[in-house]
Amino acid sequence: MAGALVELRDVTRSFPGPPEVQALKAVNLTVRAGDYVSVVGPSGSGKSTMLNVLGLVDRPSVGEYLLGGVRTGDLDEAGRSALRASRIGFVFQAFHLLPRRTVLENVLLPMLYSGTPRAQREERALAALERVGMSHRLGASPATLSGGERQRVAVARAVVTRPALLLADEPTGNLDEDTTADVMGLLEELNGDGISVVVITHDADVADRADRALRIAGGRLSEVR
Ligand code: ADP
Ligand code: MG
Repeated sequence: MAGALVELRDVTRSFPGPPEVQALKAVNLTVRAGDYVSVVGPSGSGKSTMLNVLGLVDRPSVGEYLLGGVRTGDLDEAGRSALRASRIGFVFQAFHLLPRRTVLENVLLPMLYSGTPRAQREERALAALERVGMSHRLGASPATLSGGERQRVAVARAVVTRPALLLADEPTGNLDEDTTADVMGLLEELNGDGISVVVITHDADVADRADRALRIAGGRLSEVR
């Protein structure tokens, strides 16, 4: 389909056993530029596997994944890494900030691989941290931040490279209700700027906020609304 940012075509991902597990079964998905999509499903249903495939961390066993029209199956590891670094941002439940680096250093890091000119990196990192309301803690260690603050820094890190696609795996899983609303508000602002957002969640309220809701069960994806 022309203009699609993401296209999964009959994607199956099997993990060899025994017993073999088909974590994704003939999944078809189209995400357009600017879409805001939630994915719910029980534990073990294939949510993280799908996000890993979308994030070029994992490959389909069968089927095809096109990102921005590029057939990712044709790329070698270097090509996949370069495409990942330039087009995709990740946000995780457990934040995954480097503990021995400062807030600013954590946000500078992804630009090492994204092709951002060296002279622009610091300015971009500062702007991203300003955007998420964390520019007052540039030199702080992540360990000294609250969960909500860590997730704000992680969001800055995810978008500092200006990705087309933001993938979030339970981004509010470690946050309380108020902080959840804050972080989702932030993702929605970024979505308003045109970034496509795919968010995996257990939280029905979080899923309801998205423009499109998907459900996955036993590796099969369906459109809820
Ligand atoms: P979810 O994120 O929805 O909880 P996952 O995508 O992590 O589910 O897992 C889907 C299924 O695939 C589960 O049955 C899980 O045990 C299996 N699985 C995931 N990763 C691997 C792996 N690396 N090796 C073998 N099985 C795996
Ligand atoms: Mg998971």
